[in-house]
Amino acid sequence: MSLAAHLSAFLPASADSTCTVTDDEATLSRFARDWGGLVRLRPGAVVRPSSTADVAAVLSFASDTGTPVVPRGSGHSCFGQSLTEGGLVLDLTGMARVHPGVGAEVVADAGASWRRVTESALARGLTPKVLPDYLGLSVGGTLSVGGVGGASHRHGAQTDTVTELEVVTGSGEVVRCSPEREPELFDAVRAGSGWCGVITRATVALGGAAQRARRRKLYYRDLATFVADQRTVVAEERFDHVEGRALLDVAGEWLYRVDTTSYFLLPSEVDETTLLDGLSFDASLTETAEYSYGGFCDRMADGEVSLRDSGEWFRPHPWLTVFLPDDAVTDVVAHALAGLEPGASDTVLLYPLRADRIATPLLRLPRAEPTDTPVWLLGLLTVADPRDPIGLARELERNAALYERVVAAGGTVYPGSALPRGSVDRQCHFGDAWSALTAARRRYDPADVLAAAHSW
Ligand SMILES: Cc1cc2nc3c(=O)[nH]c(=O)nc-3n(C[C@H](O)[C@H](O)[C@H](O)COP(=O)(O)OP(=O)(O)OC[C@H]3O[C@@H](n4cnc5c(N)ncnc54)[C@H](O)[C@@H]3O)c2cc1C
Repeated sequence: MSLAAHLSAFLPASADSTCTVTDDEATLSRFARDWGGLVRLRPGAVVRPSSTADVAAVLSFASDTGTPVVPRGSGHSCFGQSLTEGGLVLDLTGMARVHPGVGAEVVADAGASWRRVTESALARGLTPKVLPDYLGLSVGGTLSVGGVGGASHRHGAQTDTVTELEVVTGSGEVVRCSPEREPELFDAVRAGSGWCGVITRATVALGGAAQRARRRKLYYRDLATFVADQRTVVAEERFDHVEGRALLDVAGEWLYRVDTTSYFLLPSEVDETTLLDGLSFDASLTETAEYSYGGFCDRMADGEVSLRDSGEWFRPHPWLTVFLPDDAVTDVVAHALAGLEPGASDTVLLYPLRADRIATPLLRLPRAEPTDTPVWLLGLLTVADPRDPIGLARELERNAALYERVVAAGGTVYPGSALPRGSVDRQCHFGDAWSALTAARRRYDPADVLAAAHSW
């Protein structure tokens, strides 16, 4: 009997459920790749649950039969983290409701996109405190890796803004967890890559939403000055949103840019002079733009349309995102940039987070002493040519070599990254959180159906 037929026979018939189990070739092929487009793993079947009860039934089946299961939100992992060879893909896009919220919280099903969550919150004059740059990602997907963005220096990771989660454990039990209730599970699923349980619903804390956002692009010629100014603005919390990047100018020289954004309510205005005081950017290059607050949050939407139209959205993305300690940032970044020949569509992100704002045990960050010292996110977001397998292999080797250097400098990797299988020593990566994670895996997924398929 096929896996799909076996699972379908196991699932209880319910008039309320629209759960589907599929193993036609087109579906298996679609779910054999993720956004990174670098790894191909063909599942045995794809199940699209419509309720938490469906998810619980699928995991009971998997744990009884020893079938690997991988939860999948929007499938934007870069190296097969949302794929499985021969197992079950749990496609959570059928669980995408955003529930009417009460007070400064929103409750969303795991498959909902951050776009829908943001729209729902904005309708009440509220907003998630931390959003990823791209709002097409699912709630469950970013909470399973951490979820960081330009507001993380103020509010931590998205996982730090969650007050309660509904989780289906590897053995099919439905558990509600929070810092007070089942904290072991709460800490094992936030940034836990779906190894101990599947997040089915999240309660996320909200803040007051602004009406407008003003973004200034501040340019620098020199890496050290660019880093120093980011340290200043983050320490002083001058802006609501800070993201830096490195880019090549027309002469092929590295140029650095900090995007500093302030939110405000009309009719009040932003005091530019005070905000920019003492910074050493090249004022002749500064660009300023104003957006509605919602338009700023969803600023990647237009870019997505054009990348889809040009086909680049579907090309391989060997993205590597790492976190660096403050004392190693300039050395490691200078080395990384020297080894990079960026194409027109590549992006290099470099911006600071504050470790003292991040309290998610499995989101592994470098040392920060004193604790308000910044740690740095470095993202090499490159797009590869699908017709050049040698070039692609070189990019993965470059990622692996850079990752070794990052670890030697005390840095860590962000889990959705493209690193060849076996590059990450899980025990070293999780460090002092490793024993709690292994205990949680034994307790919540004793049949080891969730982590089994994972590629790093
Ligand atoms: C264009 C783009 C922009 C991005 N921008 C940002 C950014 O600004 N900030 C940032 O932090 N990250 C960013 N990322 C990375 C992104 O957050 C991660 O790749 C995230 O995991 C993707 O969410 P997803 O819904 O696509 O998850 P998927 O790719 O579907 O899954 C990712 C991982 O999470 C697990 N998982 C998914 N859903 C669940 C669930 N409900 N319960 C348990 N485990 C689950 C999967 O098994 C897998 O291991 C970006 C990625 C892309 C492609």
